[in-house]
Amino acid sequence: MKSISIFLVFMLTVAYASSQGRCGTIQTEEMTQSFLDNKKHWNQTLAKGSMPNFIPVTFHLVANNDGSSQPTEELALEGLCILNESFELSGSNMFFYVKEFNVINNTAINTNPSGSGFLMRNQTDDASINVFIVDEIASGGLGRILGFYSPNGDYLVMRKDQMTARAYTLEHEIGHFFTLRHTHYGWDGQYYDPSNNGDTIFQTSITITEQGPIGDIVSIELQDGSNCDTAGDLICDTPPDYGFGFSCNCCILPWEVFDRNGDAIEPLMENIMSYSQGCDIQTFSPDQLVAIQASLDANNRDYLRTNVTETQYRPVRGEVALSSPAAGETVEIFDEVTFEWEPVENAEYYIVTIIGSQTFRERTTEPRLTFTELQPNEFFASWSVRAYNVFGGGCNGSMTRNFNTGTSSSAVNELDFVSELNIYPNPITSNSDITVQFTSTQTELAQVKLHTITGALVHSFQVQIQSGENRVLIDESNVTSGILILEIKTKSGSILEKIIVE
Ligand SMILES: [Zn+2]
Repeated sequence: MKSISIFLVFMLTVAYASSQGRCGTIQTEEMTQSFLDNKKHWNQTLAKGSMPNFIPVTFHLVANNDGSSQPTEELALEGLCILNESFELSGSNMFFYVKEFNVINNTAINTNPSGSGFLMRNQTDDASINVFIVDEIASGGLGRILGFYSPNGDYLVMRKDQMTARAYTLEHEIGHFFTLRHTHYGWDGQYYDPSNNGDTIFQTSITITEQGPIGDIVSIELQDGSNCDTAGDLICDTPPDYGFGFSCNCCILPWEVFDRNGDAIEPLMENIMSYSQGCDIQTFSPDQLVAIQASLDANNRDYLRTNVTETQYRPVRGEVALSSPAAGETVEIFDEVTFEWEPVENAEYYIVTIIGSQTFRERTTEPRLTFTELQPNEFFASWSVRAYNVFGGGCNGSMTRNFNTGTSSSAVNELDFVSELNIYPNPITSNSDITVQFTSTQTELAQVKLHTITGALVHSFQVQIQSGENRVLIDESNVTSGILILEIKTKSGSILEKIIVE
C-alpha cells in the first residue's frame, strides 16, 4: 500500500511540474553589473524621496500574418491595470501608462519571439518600455515560458494568456527590466526538490545551468543575512530562496528546509521575483523597489524620463455599476436597446460586452450605448461594462446581468392612411440617394426628418403627401453613414423607420 501511495505522489508531482510556468529571461552579467553600479547610489535614491514617476509603455499587439489572433487594446490595458495595482500594493510611487499601441501582423513573432529578435528590434519605440504580446513562446527545458525580458533588444515579451491571469508575469519581467534577479538566482533549472536536496542544504555554492551565465558559481544565501550582499539575488530584505516557488507553486512552504548553519529557511513566497504563483497577492520587497527606482534613475534609462506627459495618477477603480436594463428584464423593443451604467471617475472610455448566441463588443465614451443589431426573442446570458483610461482599466472585473429581448420593433406607423412603405436601395449606401415610396388614401402636409439614434437631426424637409402613390427622394448629400431614423411626421401622427446606411 505504501509503495502505491508513493507512486501516486510521484505522478502528481511530475504532472504539476510540467504544467508549471516560468520566465525565460536570461540574466546577463551586464544586468548584474548595472544592478551593482546602481546599488552604490541607493542612498541617493532613498534621499530623493518619493516623487511620483510616470513611465510610458508601448504595447505591441502581435497577430498572425493574416491579422488573426490579434490581442485587443483592452487586454493590454487590463494587464497594465494589474501592473499598476501591484506596484501600488508594494508601496511604489511608479506609475505605468500607455504611450502607444502598435499592431504587428507577423506569425514568426507571434509564435516564436525568441527567434525573431531582429524583427522585433525594428518595431521598438525608443522612448518607452516595449511590451510585445504574443500567442506562444517556444521554449526548451522545464515548464512553459510565460514571458521574458530581452536585455539585447531591451524589450519584454508576454504570452497573451498571462496578461490577465494575475500570475504577476508582467510585474516579474518589469523587475528584470530594472535589473532585478530571481530571488532563487542560481537555482534555475535545478530547483529545490526534497528528494534530491534533503532537508538541509550543506553546499556553500551552486553552479548556474540556466537563465544566467552558465558555469558561474553563486554563493548560497543564508537565513541569518550574513552573506545577503554577495549571494542569491544580492538583496538583503529577500530571504534565501532555493527555487521553492517552482517546486511547490504554493504560498506556504510545505517542507522544513534548513541552511548549512541549521537555521530554518523562511522564504518570501509572495515575492514577485520568486516563481511561486500560489499567493493571492504578490509584491516587491522595499529593497527591490529601491533597486528598480535606482535603475530608472540610471543613465541607461534616460529615455524613459523623456516625453513623460502624465502628471497625475488617475486610476480607474472598482466595478462598473450597471443601471439598465435590470437583471432578467425583457426589453420589449429588440432592435433599439439602450444600455446604461453609472459613470466611472477618470474613465476615458467603456467597453460594453453582450453575450448571447453572438457576442457583441462596442466602445463608447458615454455611460450609455444603444444596440440595434440584437435579435428578437433571445435570451442573453450577460451584458457587462468595463472602464478604461491611459493607466489601464477593467482589472477589477464587472457586474454582469442577463436579459431577454422581446418581439417589438422600433418601427412605428401611426398613419392609418399610409401603406406599402418601401425604402430603397437596399442596402442603402452613403453615396446613393434614398427613395421613400408609399401609398396614401388622403392628402396631408408632412415633415420628413432624418435623425441619429441619439436624436441628433441630420436632415429635414417638407413634402405634400398626395392621394395615391408617393415617391420622396432624399439626396445623397444629406445622408450620413450609420444607423438613422427616418421620420414622416404629420398632424395625425408619425411613421418611424430605422435605416442602416453603409
Ligand atoms: Zn524571471
